[in-house]
Amino acid sequence: PPVCVLVLGMAGSGKTTLVQRLTAHLHSQNSPPYVINLDPAVHELPFPANIDIRDTVKYKEVMKQYGLGPNGGIVTSLNLFATRFDQVMKFIEKRQNTSQYVLIDTPGQIEVFTWSASGTIITEALASTFPSVVVYVMDTSRSTNPVTFMSNMLYACSILYKTKLPFILAMNKVSRICCQCPSEQDFLEHTFLLQVVGVSAVLGTGLDEFFVKVSEAVDEYEREYRPEYERLR
Ligand code: GDP
Ligand code: MG
Repeated sequence: PPVCVLVLGMAGSGKTTLVQRLTAHLHSQNSPPYVINLDPAVHELPFPANIDIRDTVKYKEVMKQYGLGPNGGIVTSLNLFATRFDQVMKFIEKRQNTSQYVLIDTPGQIEVFTWSASGTIITEALASTFPSVVVYVMDTSRSTNPVTFMSNMLYACSILYKTKLPFILAMNKVSRICCQCPSEQDFLEHTFLLQVVGVSAVLGTGLDEFFVKVSEAVDEYEREYRPEYERLR
């Protein structure tokens, strides 16, 4: 079965760029992924999505119809989409034998997904059927100050405990800072007890190590998480 890779992170951290880079990388390995866009407000997608929330819900119409601001419009659009997520599951099931990975890009504002009922519904639907992992993208170039760094790490940990899935911290934009050094990575993994990989979504560095982490996370899913999710079915 395909592995679902749920890409989360703060606005501007590089989620969409990473999904684009991973898609290109997998195509070059003759393993085209199944790609899902869950951001109703994105202007242009730099990758061809197999499923695009914008085809089903028009976020500007939702704002008008319900008299909402931009954030309310995005949350409500995702809620409307979540009510039909069983159809998305059927599409993914049909691709069982053709795609090794399902890549899922999420709304710019992280709280729309992580602190909403629809985010939980979508995560549980995926994780109760397919091996699923969370990739949390962090903008390393904006974390050079220790206070920002610590608050970003604590936010990452809050998502780790909320999602209840194997978790990979992708330190993005490493071209601007050294966090691929083994000692730093080791320090982060032992301090925060999570898997860390330095990547550049723009340059494509760190992708081989990224996929190694994903396959370790899949083993962890099978061992620790699958039994829990099977109880939800
Ligand atoms: P999202 O809101 O998390 O989806 O973020 P985007 O993928 O839209 O990226 C936000 C900005 O960060 C864009 O201008 C990207 O070009 C830039 N960006 C993303 N990844 C990288 C990277 O690895 N290195 C650098 N230098 N910029 C990046
Ligand atoms: Mg985006």
